[in-house]
Amino acid sequence: MQRRGLLYVVSAPSGAGKTSLCKAIIDILPNLRHSVSHTTRSPRIGEVDGRDYHFVSNAEFDAMVADEAFVEWALVHGNRYGTAVASLESGRSDGCDLLFEIDCQGAAQLKERCPDAIFIFVLPPSFRELERRLKGRQTDSAEVIEQRLHNARSEMREMFWYDYLVINDNFDLASRQLQSILVATACRTEVLKDQVLCLFGELAS
Ligand code: 5GP
Repeated sequence: MQRRGLLYVVSAPSGAGKTSLCKAIIDILPNLRHSVSHTTRSPRIGEVDGRDYHFVSNAEFDAMVADEAFVEWALVHGNRYGTAVASLESGRSDGCDLLFEIDCQGAAQLKERCPDAIFIFVLPPSFRELERRLKGRQTDSAEVIEQRLHNARSEMREMFWYDYLVINDNFDLASRQLQSILVATACRTEVLKDQVLCLFGELAS
């Protein structure tokens, strides 16, 4: 019996460590795949088209919006990002669980469209630590860092409607917490019920 993949949505202010945590968890859980978003942002050094993002022009993004090809999309830090309906459906139909790393605006849209998804918010231990991490990354200009710090305050007000919070102070602990959330969700009765009834059909009557 083909199991329907679960959807996990992870949001965080920039610099909270979400991407590293998501990479770590994908390495550990074999049935979990990263959903590759589309963006109008330029690639950073080391980023690969089709692996990290589908990097598209503004015109290509506009065309996808017009075609209703996105399940959600948002303007984040001056660039547009979106999850294609095709990425969601292809990932889900082959039984894999999908991990979405998206901002709070996109997560709120997904909550409307996919209410059974699990929503996880990763937060830094403090604003001071967030600033230290953003400056230490050396990938963004001072202006971009300022904008991301400013945005972090409004993003963190959204965390209270998420299902789970992970405070990324100690990376190993946060990674284990994220893993536990995913593993426990996959063991929920409502998730396993159909599979179990196939194994123990006589219990259905
Ligand atoms: P970055 O440019 O640092 O890779 O990502 C900036 C922000 O865009 C992050 O908060 C990231 O989670 C968010 N983001 C990435 N992909 C998507 C997406 O498909 N949809 C939405 N709404 N946000 C996204």
